[in-house]
Amino acid sequence: MAEYIGRFAPSPSGRLHFGSLVAALGSYAVAKHKNGKILLRIEDLDFFRCKKEYTSIILKELDEFGFVFDGEPYIQSEHTDVYYRVAKKLVEEDKAFYCNCTRSHLKTGVCHCREKGLKENAQDNLALRFIIPSTHQNSFEDEIYGVISSPVTVDALTLIRRDKVISYNLACVVDDIHQGVTQVVRGSDLIDITTTQMCLYNALDTECISYLHLPLAMADETYKLSKQNRSPAVLDQGPPSQMLIKALAFLNQDISGLNPQMTPKVILNKALDNFEIQKIPVGKKVIEA
Ligand code: GLU
Repeated sequence: MAEYIGRFAPSPSGRLHFGSLVAALGSYAVAKHKNGKILLRIEDLDFFRCKKEYTSIILKELDEFGFVFDGEPYIQSEHTDVYYRVAKKLVEEDKAFYCNCTRSHLKTGVCHCREKGLKENAQDNLALRFIIPSTHQNSFEDEIYGVISSPVTVDALTLIRRDKVISYNLACVVDDIHQGVTQVVRGSDLIDITTTQMCLYNALDTECISYLHLPLAMADETYKLSKQNRSPAVLDQGPPSQMLIKALAFLNQDISGLNPQMTPKVILNKALDNFEIQKIPVGKKVIEA
């Protein structure tokens, strides 16, 4: 059987919050459980939101939790040429087009840029948009949720924004392919974009991979924890060992033999020995403070 390769792919737009810890732990534990590799990828292409200092902080925090990733961290901003190359190929194959519509126009009006056949020009701030093929999958099989129906709702997907930010969707798919990732394990907030990302796999002539979406950590019934809504840094909420145990409990794992006096490495090793994928719950869970 082919080797399992998983990844954890945080965006350095802030320190790790509890939801990031759940994603790190979930992707790490599933990969180890399947005797595979786990890669670390820093998704820092949005230069408005991401900061270099957060990359260093995230690497340090992951180390404090005792995670040891395979190979060096892959920093997306060091590989922008790869995304541009793929984007150019999609244009050449008539699978993407340049667009000069503003975001607000796209929300309300009709885009005619594809028919205009705009050409890339250094002077213009053109976005690049991928054409969703008329035939595509509107569902996929998730290892935890089973079949997820999630119709693709757009007819074009922005790959490069007018302000030159390379989109998460393009970079994520290109890297998952390029790094040989066999399963994506991530938070359920990204469930709905999965079928759209699968269209990109097809356009890049690559077989889709498998998915496992983790329960979403919620601050309350309405808000997911995220860096944008200033969720507290997980290491401000308690020491690494205590927060690891809390994240394991969140994933419904057996924590009976664990206590916060143990080092994070010991907790992680014991947890990996007992990790049961089928116990991971579905949906959203509010975290008690
Ligand atoms: N970089 C994304 C985040 O921090 C995760 C993307 C993914 O796992 O596909 O939310």
